[in-house]
Formats: sequence, structure tokens, C-alpha cells
Amino acid sequence: MPAETNVTMDERAARARPDLPARARVVVVGGGVIGANVAYHLAKLGWTDVVLLERRQLTAGTTWHAAGLITSAGMFSETLLWMARYTRDLYAGLEEETGQATGWRPVGHLHVATTPGRLEGLRREAAFARGHGVDDHEISPAELGRMWPEAKTDDVLGAFYVPDEGRINPADVTMALAKGARMHGVRIVEGVAVTGFTTKSGRVTGVLTDRGTIETEYVVNCAGMWARQVGEMAGVSVPLQASEHYYMITEPVEWAHPDLPVIEDPDRYGYYREEGGGILVGLFEPVGGPWSLDRIPDEVAFASLPPDWERIGPYLDRAMDRIPALHKAGIKTMFCGPESFTPDLGPMLGEAPELRGFFVAAGMNSVGVLLGGGVGHMIAEWIVEGTPSVDVVGLAIDRTQRFETSRRFRADRTVEQLGALFGDAAWPNWHPTTARNVRRSVIHDRLAGAGAHFAPSSGWEYAEWFAEGAMPSLTLGWGRDESFPLQAAEHRTVREDVGMIDMSLMANFIVQGRDAETVLNRVSANDVAVPIGRVVYTQWLNEKAGIEADLTVTRLAEERFMVVVTDLIHRRIPAWIGRHTMDGEHVTVTDVTSGTTLLTVQGPKSRALLSRLTSADLSNDAFPYLSAKEIDLHYGRVLALRVTYVGELGWELHVPAELALTVYDALMEVGSDLGYRNVGVGAMNSLRLEKAYRDYGLDIDNTDTPLDVGLGFAVAWDKPGGFIGRDALLRQREEAGPPKRRLVQFLLEDPEPLLYGGEPILRDGHRTGHIRAGAYGHTLGGAVALGAVEDEAGIPAAAIESWRFAIEVAGTAYPARASLRPLYDPDRERIKG
Ligand SMILES: Cc1cc2nc3c(=O)[nH]c(=O)nc-3n(C[C@H](O)[C@H](O)[C@H](O)COP(=O)(O)OP(=O)(O)OC[C@H]3O[C@@H](n4cnc5c(N)ncnc54)[C@H](O)[C@@H]3O)c2cc1C
Repeated sequence: MPAETNVTMDERAARARPDLPARARVVVVGGGVIGANVAYHLAKLGWTDVVLLERRQLTAGTTWHAAGLITSAGMFSETLLWMARYTRDLYAGLEEETGQATGWRPVGHLHVATTPGRLEGLRREAAFARGHGVDDHEISPAELGRMWPEAKTDDVLGAFYVPDEGRINPADVTMALAKGARMHGVRIVEGVAVTGFTTKSGRVTGVLTDRGTIETEYVVNCAGMWARQVGEMAGVSVPLQASEHYYMITEPVEWAHPDLPVIEDPDRYGYYREEGGGILVGLFEPVGGPWSLDRIPDEVAFASLPPDWERIGPYLDRAMDRIPALHKAGIKTMFCGPESFTPDLGPMLGEAPELRGFFVAAGMNSVGVLLGGGVGHMIAEWIVEGTPSVDVVGLAIDRTQRFETSRRFRADRTVEQLGALFGDAAWPNWHPTTARNVRRSVIHDRLAGAGAHFAPSSGWEYAEWFAEGAMPSLTLGWGRDESFPLQAAEHRTVREDVGMIDMSLMANFIVQGRDAETVLNRVSANDVAVPIGRVVYTQWLNEKAGIEADLTVTRLAEERFMVVVTDLIHRRIPAWIGRHTMDGEHVTVTDVTSGTTLLTVQGPKSRALLSRLTSADLSNDAFPYLSAKEIDLHYGRVLALRVTYVGELGWELHVPAELALTVYDALMEVGSDLGYRNVGVGAMNSLRLEKAYRDYGLDIDNTDTPLDVGLGFAVAWDKPGGFIGRDALLRQREEAGPPKRRLVQFLLEDPEPLLYGGEPILRDGHRTGHIRAGAYGHTLGGAVALGAVEDEAGIPAAAIESWRFAIEVAGTAYPARASLRPLYDPDRERIKG
């Protein structure tokens, strides 16, 4: 890990810089817009013992040439929208605060739709934004034409206008942030390259540079497209890859003026704004060009890459068609700069699971300027307070997989990321098409043979649904796609007969050792000190009682437990246990995901099916709900858990991988007369939402406490020794009056509209929250969802069913039934079997 082993102590002393401190509480690596924002926000929170190191000059990486769009377009999640709007507000006041000009121009932002699907998507997005206080309203093509007389409007179906957004000068805003940080005491040192790190007992302790060493408690890796390499120096995986990113600026045209609003046109992969009297046309082409796959050279600064005209030419032409007059204007600049993209288009934020104190803020996917303020605020809060106050499950770096840094994966995936970000990734039924088939379950080929349509999650291919006969080609969009009737049939199979869902992507760990019970009970809100063979549903909380994990813990032996959790936080589990194990305690965590095939067999006929292959007694008395046993199954022995995520009688079978095909085939062979068949994860989602079961990262997250989301039943308030987060949770319980947030289940009365998440919840016409996750409830007969209802005055439980709710879908309000008890089988009769 340490670099510079060939440099002598004398040489180091000679090169040492007087302005480099021997120690600093935080070292920020990289002086782009992200590093400057992080340093600025740390200082704002009162942490001024901070040094920012920049290898070359501030802004020399990607920041100097960004187009400077400041918009919340495409920010269709609470956290992303907050980051964009917070950044806008911060930048708007920065010149006044620091005296440094930023080039901020709130000229307005226009988002154009030319297809019905895009129009619906933008209407949904605008409704979400309005629900969060953003003035995002639809305008007609004629109004668009009045704002931009040279724009072609005859193919436009609608446009969405946000008047208070616009553009800024990215280099100037970075300088203003740096000035603000310095004003508060941060040291910013240019011309110093970070070359390595020192660590002790799993914690970062120092930063090695080409000018000396700095002892530190925290590092923030803000090295932009170099962040993967900087991460490697510390053994931290940062999956991102630089990609070519283009804009063109025309010679001045007489009709252009600086107050023209910015336009984004996803169907033409283009965006447009005035620049120096000409027009800047930016591109998000669907076939992108990864750049410098092996290594980003250290010496790169203020880079401008040679354009690949052959690849880019046709897209540029198509983009210019939006403003036909541009075809006649001369090209002044054709700019190609490198920018980092990530495997799922989300930034890489937060503390690395590999190393305590080592934070990452990189992988900005072409929106680093417009999200930078939010990133800086969030990271500073995370460091200073130990946890951020916004939902970070989908942005935290521990969601990633180490294989995602492999060269081939980056080469393949990066090709589609630029275009997807601007276009297809907006559709709810879109999945990446590149770098597929990375992780496959043992029974993958069987599922493929049965007609599986696969989708990726954490690199796993999971069966989303099964075709009957030829594989239908899917229409991307917000409506019922070709899989709708197929998923409905799978849903019915589980409700009426029995189906099998391959959930091998779930992360699976054995936690064992003398102190396994003590440590697990410290991190779990529920009590895991249970008899052998019991399954415990629990949450792991942070000190503020926010949920960090939602999982089952099964006691397999006195000193051995199994932990099963969503793939999204696979890497969080060992790190969390490690960080909450005290000196002298003995506990080990073994990741057994790869060795386990997880078949979940669910439905009223599951007992009858499994009984055909096992000699074990599966009756309620012998095998009650929430118990676990090793049973024989055909030739194999498997660990069976009586649990359900769909609200039916069922078992989760943890099958040793080498036995999986044998068990799978045997089940298929004996089950046909019971209606047994493969079921996809799509149906599982609609089944679990009918039962109002929570899904971590979708409908519950780190900003929720168990009490906020109806999981108080899983809290063991008085267990000996307590648990992490208990004090905060107790304070919440003791607060006067009813809770201010509740997770509520909704069912639309009209069976037509579909819910996906993000739709505003209206109470008597006023927004009171938004839907977190939705699906079609094929048994309940309408779209079903979980949403957070919020009210500072408190929400009495009894009021939920008496208040009149509606859900706003693409601008139309649909009446909805609300319930705190599951609308499907509230008395759990089905589970009892
Ligand atoms: C053509 C184009 C247009 C864009 N338009 C927009 C836009 O309109 N709006 C928007 O929001 N975003 C836009 N972006 C994206 C935006 O520019 C980036 O997301 C943002 O600049 C990233 O900032 P950063 O601080 O993460 O990285 P960088 O600006 O690259 O900063 C990283 C810094 O780390 C330094 N560094 C690296 N290694 C070391 C080391 N070992 N030691 C010390 N220092 C080191 C580098 O020298 C560099 O200065 C655009 C990008 C491109 C290419």
C-alpha cells in the first residue's frame, strides 16, 4: 500500500512543503467541485482542521470544462432532488457570501417530451418535484416556441418549465467554495499529490504525499475519475470509469442571448444553452466511449480529448435538428472531456466498507456540479455526526460489488451509461443491457429454459418473470407492458397453488463464535437470544435509530447464527459487525452466499409439495412459523426456514449449491399436479406489497426508525444490554402525541393507473407525502403501494382509515384506500397454513 518506497528520508525532507501540516483531522483528496464542496461544508459544520490536497490546480480535473447546467431534471428520488435543489440555493447565494463571482444565471430550465411515454414520465417527475416545493409546470409547444423562437416545436408534445434553475460557471463556483472554505479556516494546498495511505486496525491513520505525510482521522476521496486509483492505494474498491463526454459551441448567432432558458431534449440526446453569443449543444449519446480503461494518467490536467467524429457525428446532427438554424452556424469549439460514470448511474458516497474513516465522494455521472452542494453537505454531516440525515441506501458505496472495478466490466457497462442516464433509465421497466450474466445462480440455465426474463441486481441475474412460449419484446414505458399478464398468472400461482422463486441473490452469512449472541444482540433491535431453531426478524439501527439493515437472524446452534439480507447491503453486514465488536470479543463472519442456492417455495400447497420429497414433519406443531430445521429433501439435506415474504404458507430452502440442481429438478418432477411452477421476482414484489411487507432501500431506509414504519413489533425494548439506537428510539416513543410519520399501505380505487414510487400522496387535495414503492396487486385488483404520510401535527392511527386520500399519477388525482394493517390477509390466516 505505501508508495514511494524508493525515496529516501533526506529526499522527502527536501521536498517537504512548509504549508503541509503534519496532521489534520480530515484530509480531502482532490480540488474539483466535489472536494471544494466537502471542505466548505466541513468548515460550515465547525470542522476547520481540514486540509484539501490537489495534485495540480483547483478545477484541473473534470470540473474546469463542465457545461454548468443547474437543474433538478431527472432527480426522481427524494435525496437526489434535495441535493439538486440544495445545491441550487447554495450556489445562488455564494457570490454574496464570498465575494467571488460564480456566473450564476437563473434563466429557467425546459425539459421537452416528444413521445407519449416521455410525456407521461415527465408529468410524473414534475408532480414529484412540485410535491417537494419545486415550481415545475407543463407548458405547451407554443409557449416553448415563444421562449426559444429558433427551436423546432412541431414534434413536441409538451415541455416542463422550472423558472428558477439555469446555469453557472463551474470553475468560478469551485473557486468561490474554496474561498468560503478558506475563510472558515480550511487549508487548501495545490501541487501536492496523494501517493498512499497508512492504516491501523482497519482504520485510516495517515496520508502519504509526494511532499510529506499527514497524520489524520478521516480521508475523503474526491479524486473524480482518479478516485478508483486513489481507492486502490487504500485497498478500497471504487467502481467508476471515465467516459468521453461532448459538447459543441457554435460561433455567435444573432438571435442568441444569455437569458435563453436551458433546454433538455432526451429523445434527441441533447441539451442547449447560450454561450458567448453562440449556442452550446451538449450530447448524451446512446453509444458512449469509455476513456483510458487501464489507468487515468497522473499528469492529465485541463484535459481536452480528440473528438471521435465518426461515432459522434450522427448524434450531433440529430441534436442540432432541435434548433435547425444551428446547421448553418459555424462550429467554434468541439469539446470532449472525460467524466466518470458508475455501474448503476448513482454516485459513490460514504464510508468505505473496507476501511474505517475512509470516505468517498466521486462517480458523479455528469451531474457533479449540480449535485455538488448536496454531496458536500451530506458527506460533511456523515463525518461529523456519524450518519447523514437523508436516505443514502442507493448512493452509499457499500451497495457496490468489488467485481465492478474489473476492466472488462467497466469497458462494457460504460458504453451505455451516458445515453441511459439521459433517456432509457427513466423507464421503470428498463434494465442495463451491457455487462450482463456476471453472477448466476446454479439453476440459472434451468430458469432460462423455462422462459425466464432476467434482470440484473448487484451483478446477479434474477428471473423477473417467465414467458409462455416465445419471449415477448418489451415496450419500455409507464404502462402495462407485455409481461403484465404473465406476472399476473405467477402471482395467482402463489396465492392459489405453489410457486418457487429463486432468491439466491440474497446475501447469506454465518456469524459464529463465543460472543456471537452478544454482538448480534447489540446490533439487532429485536432479541436474538432465542432457542436454537428460531428465526428472528429484526432491524439493525444506527445511534439515531435509523434503520441500517432489515434482515432475519436464525439461531443454528449455541454459538452459530445465520444472517440473510438483501443483496443491496451485502457488503455492509461484515463491516457493521466488525465495527460493533468490542476488543476481546470473539466472533467471525463467513459469507456463504456463493455456496447457497436459496429457493423459496411459497403458496397454500407448499406443504403438500415438500412433503412428497421429505420425511420431515412439516405440520404446524412440528414446524411452526419462524422456525428453522435441517431436513432431508429428495437426495439432499437442506436448511428449511418457515418464513414468507409473500403472505402465504411457505418455506425458504437454503440448499448447498452442489445439490441445487438435484433439488430443483426433483421439485419440478413431483409438483406439476399441484400447479407448481417457477415464479419471478416481479410477482414477488406485487405479492409482498399486497401484504405490506417492507423492502429495505425501496420503502424503508436509514432516515426511518422502526416506529416510523410500523416495525415497533420487532423491537425488544427491554432485553438485557439494550441495543444500538435504543436511546434515540426510546426518546421517540416518549414524545407526546401521535407519530409525525407513518408508512401506510394504499390501494387505488380505480383499477387502471399504475404506481411505481414517487407519486404524491394527497390528503384533502394537499400533499402529505409520497409513494415509496408500488406494484399492481393482482389479488386486490388495483395498484398497491407503500407510502410515507407525514404531518407535523401528528397522525393518529385511527385517522388513517377515515381521512380521504388520493394519489397523484402524472398530474391526475386518484382516490385511494389507506390502511395500517395489511389489506391482504390482515389476520395472517394464510401464513398459519
Ligand atoms: C463535457 C462535460 C459537461 C459537463 N456538464 C455538466 C453540467 O452541466 N452540470 C453538472 O453538474 N456537471 C457537468 N459535468 C460533470 C462535472 O464536470 C463533474 O461531475 C464534476 O466536475 C466532477 O467533479 P469532481 O470534483 O468529482 O472531479 P474533478 O473535477 O475531476 O476533481 C478531481 C480532482 O482530484 C485531483 N486528484 C486526482 N488524483 C489526485 C491525487 N492522487 N492527489 C491529489 N489530487 C488528486 C485531480 O487533479 C482533480 O483536480 C460535465 C462534464 C463534462 C465532461
